[in-house]
Amino acid sequence: MSKRIRQSLRRLAEAEIRRLPRLASGAGSLAVVYPNEYRTGMANLGLHALLEAAHDHGGGRFSVDRCFLPGARDLAEHRRAGTPILGLESGRSLAAFDALLVSLSFEPDAVGLVQLLALSGVEPLAARRDERAPLVVAGGMAPTLNPEPLAPFCDLIGLGEAEALLPGLLEALLEEPDRSSLLERMAKQPGWYAPALAPDHPPPCARQHVTLTRPSMPAVLAPGAAFAGHVDLEISRGCRWRCAFCAAGHVVTPYRELQLEQLEPALGWALKQRGRVGLVGTDVSDHSGLEAIVRGIWDRGGEVALPSLRVEQLADAHAAAARLIAERPPRTVTMAVEAADAGLRRALGKRLSDEQLLAAARNMAAAGVANLRVYLLAGVPGERWEHIEAMVDLARELVAAGPGGRLTLSVTGMVPKPGTPMQWEPAPDRRYLRRVRAHLRAHLPRKEIELSFESPDWVRWQALLSLGGREVADRILAAADEGWRRTLTRAAREVPLLQGQGRDPDQPLPWAHVECGPGHDKLRRRRARLK
Ligand code: SF4
Repeated sequence: MSKRIRQSLRRLAEAEIRRLPRLASGAGSLAVVYPNEYRTGMANLGLHALLEAAHDHGGGRFSVDRCFLPGARDLAEHRRAGTPILGLESGRSLAAFDALLVSLSFEPDAVGLVQLLALSGVEPLAARRDERAPLVVAGGMAPTLNPEPLAPFCDLIGLGEAEALLPGLLEALLEEPDRSSLLERMAKQPGWYAPALAPDHPPPCARQHVTLTRPSMPAVLAPGAAFAGHVDLEISRGCRWRCAFCAAGHVVTPYRELQLEQLEPALGWALKQRGRVGLVGTDVSDHSGLEAIVRGIWDRGGEVALPSLRVEQLADAHAAAARLIAERPPRTVTMAVEAADAGLRRALGKRLSDEQLLAAARNMAAAGVANLRVYLLAGVPGERWEHIEAMVDLARELVAAGPGGRLTLSVTGMVPKPGTPMQWEPAPDRRYLRRVRAHLRAHLPRKEIELSFESPDWVRWQALLSLGGREVADRILAAADEGWRRTLTRAAREVPLLQGQGRDPDQPLPWAHVECGPGHDKLRRRRARLK
């Protein structure tokens, strides 16, 4: 057992500020597992929603701890010293918990899950585990969209929101005498999927959601977390729009929002701790109470950090988002534009004209914002090379119209997501994305515009994990051992999705049993309009 690992966990725990008390004892034991590094996990509201639900429904009956994937240096130390993954608070081995509640927002974290299990002496494949191993339960956005790549590793998968799913699981954990009766009971509950009980034809399973009554927020504040300078508060969930590429817009339904009075006492605690609140939601700029919330925070002497805003709201100088920014301009404003060509934007669901785009840049300049960051997608259906060339023109026009500071063009290849009209598309072509990157590097004026281009290989790796079936589990196992790049190189020679071949819209999809969003027929019709 490595002394250095224990000391480093103790230091992390000692530096934290707790909002929820530690639950150190109970008839059962739970570990909330984030299969990525501590600083990433502690910045993720999905992890905190899970922790809060475990506290709300497990308090007095379960101990609750947290486990993370160590960084590269600590990972080597774990392997050298044969030290398993340990609970941050109790120091207990991951293998010794009754259940692991795994929070998976991003598909590539599946590799981290396999590494965590293997490092702790827990067989990653569920079929090879016995009753002595902890129950592995996954939830979060990635398995809700498509549980199949994770299915071989998990005893149970919860589809939807932790607040809705956890109470039934915790009851069953205490009441059922053995694992098989637990799985059978859970498989009958809404939103729960037991892969081992339905290896070939999984039954329909509907995503679960709750009525929001209070914001998700950090259960524990970690100084070492990403974005630790403010406290995040979730003020809305879901989005009223349905951009064709966006899983949140299609799947996280219905749209729900919280008003200022519902944010108390969370707001009081957040301002006391940090004095700065990050407003979180997929569509914050359309929130009906945005102005009241921001002014409420200002009136209490606090500051506000806003996420990326819909450009339409920034283009209209009378809209709440534009007025608030004009009153207290942040250094940087982020705009999700997605396509430089207005026709392509419209096809993707962004009804945003070139005039509105430039008006938004002008408004931000007039408000005193120093820098703009603009998000664009490459490799979307219907895209032509002239649309890529238009990215350069658009960037130049934004520089001319917008703030005098830096413009960051943040470009990523589109990862087709299950549950959206893009779900039949293949992964974007590697050579094409590299060509786009080379073109932008060559033609954007470096003095004024910074280009941030997501690695084409990383985009394709995400696409493989998003769009695969159970067979993808073998790739995940391989990547946990040899690294994802090597696995992707081999997969690119073997997997049609990585060779430009999309799925047949008339054939069942691996995630067809997941019931959420508009349904496959509607998605198919929308897809036909994209081409
Ligand atoms: S991209 Fe933004 S506006 Fe469009 S559906 Fe997604 S969250 Fe909503």
